[in-house]
Amino acid sequence: MMIPDFGEEAQYKLKESSVLVTRAGGLGGTVAFYLAAAGVGKLVVAHGGNLTRSNLNRQILMTHDWVGKPRAEKIRETLLRFNGDLALEVLAENATEGNAAHWVEGVDLVCDCPPTFEERYALNKAIVYARKPMVEAAMNSMECHLTVIVPGKTPCLSCLYPEPPSWWEPLGFPVLGAVSGAVACLAAIEAIKMLTGIGEPLAGKLLQMDTLAHEYRKFNIRRDPKCKVCGEL
Ligand SMILES: [Zn+2]
Repeated sequence: MMIPDFGEEAQYKLKESSVLVTRAGGLGGTVAFYLAAAGVGKLVVAHGGNLTRSNLNRQILMTHDWVGKPRAEKIRETLLRFNGDLALEVLAENATEGNAAHWVEGVDLVCDCPPTFEERYALNKAIVYARKPMVEAAMNSMECHLTVIVPGKTPCLSCLYPEPPSWWEPLGFPVLGAVSGAVACLAAIEAIKMLTGIGEPLAGKLLQMDTLAHEYRKFNIRRDPKCKVCGEL
């Protein structure tokens, strides 16, 4: 509340806000943690499946003794142990075209953090239809990308990537936990800015970060008027 332009008013706005975080892995787990720390009133966190040993270099909500058990239970335990005042709903499944619209309906903002384009496209369609903002965060190896999608005003994910890029394959990219955590912290900041109205969010801008060389670039991005998802808005 001591942050200039934040104050008690913005803190109350966070308390009254609800955010969907899809996948609580190296990216989403850190986003959820810092949104819980900031005092966001309600979090809906979706992540299916059981914890594997290979997840543990990045999934900071998990613990070694939980390998082989459902991630969703540990997500609930860790976040509520950290902030017992949090209204928390944990969904033990990943986003699909079948469930995304329903999930998006009940929240103010989405943080899109899955490792697959399939899930990201499902959420992109759902937020465009519902006219809800979405923080789009991604990483690959030592690089990160971050933008904020405001349907009808900024490019949506399909404007930027009408098809999955040729280099991409499911879970075929390396992750350093500190890199996913770094972009996750920035994504949480964007979510907080959108929810409270402070500062200038990365709406219509793409932040690209190369953490190896520490080169950070910000591009203006434009909507595709022929976009299959948001072109009609
Ligand atoms: Zn679009």
